Amino acid sequence: MPELYDVIIVGGGPAGSTAGTLLAKQGRKVAIFEKEQFPRFKIGESLLPGSLCTFERMGVKEKIDRADVIVKYGGKIVSACGTRTNRFLFSNVFRCKYPTAYQVERSRFDQILLDHAAETGCEVRQGVNVTDFVCAEDGVTIRTATGEFCGRYLIDCSGRNAVVGTHFNLRRNYPELRKFSLYAHFEDVDRLPGIEGTLTQMVRGRDRWFWIIPITPSKTSIGVVLDAQTFKRMKLSPEAAFRQILQENPKVIEQMSSARRVTEVYATSDFSFRNKCFTGDRWVLAGDAAGFIDPVWSSGVFIAVLSGEKAADMLDRVLRHPERRALEFKCYERHLGRVMDLYLRLVNSWYTQEFAEVFLNPQEFLQLVPAVNSVLAGSEKPLLQVRWRLWVFNLLVYLQKRFAIIAPRMSLQPNSQ
Ligand SMILES: Cc1cc2nc3c(=O)[nH]c(=O)nc-3n(C[C@H](O)[C@H](O)[C@H](O)COP(=O)(O)OP(=O)(O)OC[C@H]3O[C@@H](n4cnc5c(N)ncnc54)[C@H](O)[C@@H]3O)c2cc1C
Repeated sequence: MPELYDVIIVGGGPAGSTAGTLLAKQGRKVAIFEKEQFPRFKIGESLLPGSLCTFERMGVKEKIDRADVIVKYGGKIVSACGTRTNRFLFSNVFRCKYPTAYQVERSRFDQILLDHAAETGCEVRQGVNVTDFVCAEDGVTIRTATGEFCGRYLIDCSGRNAVVGTHFNLRRNYPELRKFSLYAHFEDVDRLPGIEGTLTQMVRGRDRWFWIIPITPSKTSIGVVLDAQTFKRMKLSPEAAFRQILQENPKVIEQMSSARRVTEVYATSDFSFRNKCFTGDRWVLAGDAAGFIDPVWSSGVFIAVLSGEKAADMLDRVLRHPERRALEFKCYERHLGRVMDLYLRLVNSWYTQEFAEVFLNPQEFLQLVPAVNSVLAGSEKPLLQVRWRLWVFNLLVYLQKRFAIIAPRMSLQPNSQ
């Protein structure tokens, strides 16, 4: 007979390690199956302060602090035409327990989290691909090349591979977010000293935006997001397209005079989607396996860690009180859906010209930008004082779109005013 776990987790990224650690800490028999051998390359390096409480609860925060990560104080958004900048610090957001987050090299960061899960008592099997699964009334069986394993519940943390979502055809793309991204790591990108050098920089162009993220003392992650159609029309390889796109944008290239690319150029397309539901009789989806909403506000790892934590706590309660399963699953669905909706609204707004004009306005209306930033710091349920400001901010964006009365118009084109 195969061994019986309380919970089987597919995927050892941040969602899987968080869920595994917290379940093991509750004394649950839990196993993580990860198809890769860590360390492995991964994108998604800019984190939000909202995850730090969970890292502390997992007992992994100290290990992260001891590692060579960059402490991130906030972000800076610059218009590609160079006329406007908005720099925000997490210390200025509303009631933020931690005024900082991390910029990480994911290969090392994910390894710290996964090793920690193993040290906490979670069985971790790396290099094991989960190829299929079968649900029964009282549990679930997964299939791998090394055999079959049974659990009472399954948490799918397999990222955008979305093992369960693909199996049940749950995936729904956001038609308005058909984006394409090119990115690589570079050594010796120019960096300002002090806090400035820790910020995530975003350069906002008319039909594309760039990130510049310091991930180690000498390494920087640089990437661009643009419409998938725009990339197709270029008819270039990812490497040639990336080179050309960087050359066309002085706000990015001016920081790269001594830069050396140290990884291949990676390309990812159509990454934004959400599954139709996040729970079934014997399974729960967490992290990207539930859905992912564009990298722009760095919400990916935050939502992965948050949903990993909620899924673990929920399954622990369900294992104790099986009769409450339906209600618990419903609450989880509602909670995760709300958090995703919050970020989805901000992401859709980001891709409009008027959002950039209001957000990058030199005058701050009624501290509205800190309200947006409070959400951007990682908020699962914004406070009332944040919510009403967000509402007013959205109204201003609407007025800007209709009447252009809130801020001067801006070209967002490089080399123009
Ligand atoms: C271009 C781009 C830029 C991004 N930038 C940011 C950013 O700056 N900040 C941020 O927070 N987020 C960012 N993200 C999102 C971030 O990468 C993800 O949200 C985050 O990694 C999700 O964590 P996860 O644990 O859900 O999934 P993952 O980190 O993807 O981990 C899933 C794991 O499951 C394993 N797996 C998959 N299939 C199987 C299988 N069948 N069997 C066993 N194991 C399996 C994989 O090997 C992987 O290790 C970005 C995403 C993109 C596309």
